[in-house]
Amino acid sequence: MIALEDNTPEAYAALKEKAGAIEIVTMPSKYPGGGEKQLIQFLTGREVPSGGMSYQVGVLVQNVATAWAVARALRDGEPSISRVVTVTGKPIAQPQNFMVPIGTMLEDLIQAAGGFSQRPGKVVMGGALVGAAQYDLQTPVMKTTSCVIAFDEAESRTPDATPCIKCARCVDVCPAHLLPLKLEAFGMNERFDDAREFGALDCIECGACNYICPAKRPLLQYIRFAKMEIIARDKKPS
Ligand code: SF4
Ligand code: SF4
Repeated sequence: MIALEDNTPEAYAALKEKAGAIEIVTMPSKYPGGGEKQLIQFLTGREVPSGGMSYQVGVLVQNVATAWAVARALRDGEPSISRVVTVTGKPIAQPQNFMVPIGTMLEDLIQAAGGFSQRPGKVVMGGALVGAAQYDLQTPVMKTTSCVIAFDEAESRTPDATPCIKCARCVDVCPAHLLPLKLEAFGMNERFDDAREFGALDCIECGACNYICPAKRPLLQYIRFAKMEIIARDKKPS
């Protein structure tokens, strides 16, 4: 089965023509629909159990870049040495996609996209909601670098967090059916066992809770911290 977002009719038509027995399906282009567990539930109705893996419900999910890299490796004997990277954001003069060797410096990528048309406030590697800000542009593209986004100075300001008003908007948007406000509190107070019990490891780090929170709380940051601590503890020899 090949799944596409419903805003790519040309790709859908092209795939449909060539697909043969492969089923081509569309899904709403609603973030974060591409999350593995969310995708499986939408397309097959199967739910991956908490803490479980997709193979447990008989499914293997590959994104298009991985499928392509596997094809090159198996068919052509070519290792994974290049990938597509999107360079975008207001300060980028000519936003576009590039096929670049892994290891390409961000500064060279941005230069190839016409450089900055205005002073950037922040350059983020990864998605707009979940990526990591970079200290400098002498950072190489890695196998997992799908996107480089520059934000202008106004977009880059971190809002001051105010106390949680218990509005539950973070709960409503969480695609993993978690309680982000609780997980944030557990992370902040280093209550890692509670964070585990409340499913921190099921967080797909989509950042939807951060985005929606009217109090501008750094929910994902503390959830990530809790996850890292839980995983580090699990790895420690007992
Ligand atoms: S969205 Fe923000 S303010 Fe509302 S319950 Fe969640 S953490 Fe609290
Ligand atoms: S980042 Fe927030 S909304 Fe996304 S899965 Fe994790 S807790 Fe849920």
